[in-house]
Amino acid sequence: MRYFESVVDLIGNTPLVKLRSVADGVPGTVLAKIEYLNPGGSVKDRIAVKMVEAAEKSGALRPGGTIVEPTSGNTGVGLAIVAQTKGYKCVFVCPDKVSEDKRDVLRAYGAEVVVCPTAVAPEHPDSYYNVSDRLVREIDGAWKPDQYSNPEGPASHYATTGPEIWNDTDGRITHFVTGIGTGGTITGTGRYLKEKAAEAGREITIVGVDPEGSVYSGGTGRPYLVEGVGEDFWPSAYDPSVTDQVVPVSDAESFLLTRRLAREEGLLVGGSCGMAVAGALKVAREAGPDAVVVVLLPDGGRGYLSKIFNDEWMAGYGFLNLADRTPGGITVG
Ligand code: PMP
Repeated sequence: MRYFESVVDLIGNTPLVKLRSVADGVPGTVLAKIEYLNPGGSVKDRIAVKMVEAAEKSGALRPGGTIVEPTSGNTGVGLAIVAQTKGYKCVFVCPDKVSEDKRDVLRAYGAEVVVCPTAVAPEHPDSYYNVSDRLVREIDGAWKPDQYSNPEGPASHYATTGPEIWNDTDGRITHFVTGIGTGGTITGTGRYLKEKAAEAGREITIVGVDPEGSVYSGGTGRPYLVEGVGEDFWPSAYDPSVTDQVVPVSDAESFLLTRRLAREEGLLVGGSCGMAVAGALKVAREAGPDAVVVVLLPDGGRGYLSKIFNDEWMAGYGFLNLADRTPGGITVG
């Protein structure tokens, strides 16, 4: 019989798919790594399993314990899945810009969700960082993975994402492009790929993509709408020395390209995916025909149906003009 012991064993080994329509006219090859095919629907399943296993080993998480984490949703789903298989409870703290759909998903997995305002500074008592710290103090047996500082985040990408990409491209990757949130993906994956390229006697370019306004591309962290990426502080999970180049992308460009990925590539993905692809296409346009650009797409698009994929929501922010809508409901963008 061929079966897996639990869904946790399905995490990782996601495929690369060539981008065709959106990469039309671009020299070289642009390959998307499809992280929504993880069982929890995002790249964050990878760090969840690693962080929990390490905490069990160190004794920070004991049987019957509670996992408390500030998360925009995806890390929560990953942690909830791992927690179920191991008998832990979960309490997640989300900023209010995270969609209702995403919070409902966390609740569906059996987690408790606490919502905090987005528009307050990290040091404010109501910030989602501080609320989660308070909950850790108040709940008996609580453990906070803290994806922003946990070295198991980058370590999980060094151990899985990096080798998968290297092997699937037969070591021919020339550019790795990914959004920066905690920085775990770019740090771990980028470090592994750079080591392998150095062993092979050549170079690889690691490109971070950032929402305009976030600190990674020189901003102050002013609010932007794309979820899961960009920051208003520098987390220790991020090692900026791995990144060769940071490309800022606007909300408008991120969301319009996200919609094109669904319509033209059959990839219903989240807003940070459109952002990452915008960065990847820019890099690929400047690189030669031999470039093999791999761009990581962190999550699926179902959690964004009432936002990015909703014409009125998009028009409300000026990202799209409702006058362009045809009777068939197809909009430009
Ligand atoms: N996109 C989405 C939707 C995410 O949830 C995350 C994780 N915060 C990222 C991108 C960025 O990944 P990382 O935290 O590894 O930098």
